[in-house]
Order: sequence, then C-alpha cells, then structure tokens
Amino acid sequence: MIYAANWKMNGDREFVHYILSQIKDNILPFLSYGSDIILCPPSIYLSEATDICKNTSIEIGAQDCSAHENGAFTGEVSAQMISDTGSEWVILGHSERRQYHAENNILLIDKLRNAHNAGLKVIFCVGETHQQYNEGTTRETLKDQLSVLDNARLANLNYMIAYEPVWAIGTGLAPELEEIDVIHQFIKKQLIDTAILPKKTRVLYGGSVSPNNAKDIKALASVDGVLVGGASLSSDKFKQICI
Ligand code: PEP
Repeated sequence: MIYAANWKMNGDREFVHYILSQIKDNILPFLSYGSDIILCPPSIYLSEATDICKNTSIEIGAQDCSAHENGAFTGEVSAQMISDTGSEWVILGHSERRQYHAENNILLIDKLRNAHNAGLKVIFCVGETHQQYNEGTTRETLKDQLSVLDNARLANLNYMIAYEPVWAIGTGLAPELEEIDVIHQFIKKQLIDTAILPKKTRVLYGGSVSPNNAKDIKALASVDGVLVGGASLSSDKFKQICI
C-alpha cells in the first residue's frame, strides 16, 4: 500500500521538520510490510526533507515541475532541479494545477517528458468534475486525461495514477466504495489496453481520505494506495490512515 501526502502550499520550515520527525518516529516503524510513504512538501523544502529522510524508506516528491527543461521561465522549477534535491517523485496533473494554472494535455505531455528525462517517478492525477460526474461522463473524462500517457510515448516512464474526483478534493465528500472500485478497475483496464505502458500500474485513490474512511477504501482490491491532502497535515490523522 502506498501512502502519499500532498501538503500543497501549507506549513513552514518548523512544520516540515516537526511532521517529518513525527512520521519517521511514530508512523514508519509501524507501517505494514510492503507499504511505502511518499511525502510531497512545497518545493522550497524538498532538499531539507530529503536530508531529514536520508537513511529511511520515506521517499520525497514535488507537487509539480516545469514543462520546460531550463531557460527564461521566471519562478518555475525544472524536473532536473527537483531531482538534484534528492527527490524521487513528482505529482503531475493535479486538479488544482489544471484548474488554477490551465494545465492541459499538451502541457502535461511536456511535463511528463521532462520528469522522465530527469529520472523522476510520476504520480499522475486524473479525475472528473462534479458536473462531469453528474452528467455521467467520468469515463470519457478519464480516458482523455489518461491519453496523455500514451501520447507522451515514454516506454519506460515510472509512474502511478492517482484517481482524484475533483468534487471530492478538500470537500469531505468521497464517492461510494463501489464507485471507487469500479473506476479504479476502469483505469487499470485502460492502461492495460495501452500497449506501450507497463501492465501493472498502481492506482491510488485521493479525495477527502480521512481516518474515518481510509480503512474501507484501502480494503478495496483495486486500490493500491491513497493520496492524502488535508488529513496529511496532521501526523495523528496521517498515522490513523497509514496504520
Ligand atoms: C489532494 O488534493 O490531492 C487531496 C487528496 O486533497 P484532500 O485529501 O484534502 O481531499
């Protein structure tokens, strides 16, 4: 089981040090065999996070990377720079990036290429809006979002999918367990049908995962892990989700 935490633009240096020590001391030793933790702090703290987690199994990731390799792109952080911090992962296609930064499939292909070339592993987020959910177009939406992986033509891309319904992110709402299961199976089938990609891609669920629903979500055979936003900012809640 994968436990990924997206801290978004929250916390400060003190928080990062505190929560990392909590996770190292109070969660990691109790994690079940075969489980992994991936923590995604704000990019400014990546180097500190990789330093603090050195010699542990905790892996560190960024929340985004630039679509460009380098150059005059003020404020952006390249995939290679992320890799230089010792981070191994990058989240791409998060709905907040799609929504607030107008990220589309074409841009995401470039981001995937740069991440791949820099040796980063990718957590690729997909998910439908509430309107798409109500209109019954979830599958078409996901198919379109997943087509980026195929179109990027990166045979050895190391990635997992995070299924995150946009309407479930930060709202306290989550799909029914059966809906999560059916959609995860749909995503896995889509990936298998895509010849150039690995057959056994892990699919995480994200969107209002909490200590109350984590156990049931994790029990679904199609769920390989969870991507946790709000609840990962509390080491107590994150512990209850992980253990
Ligand atoms: C997220 O934004 O990736 C997320 C899963 O958020 P939350 O857990 O707060 O819904």
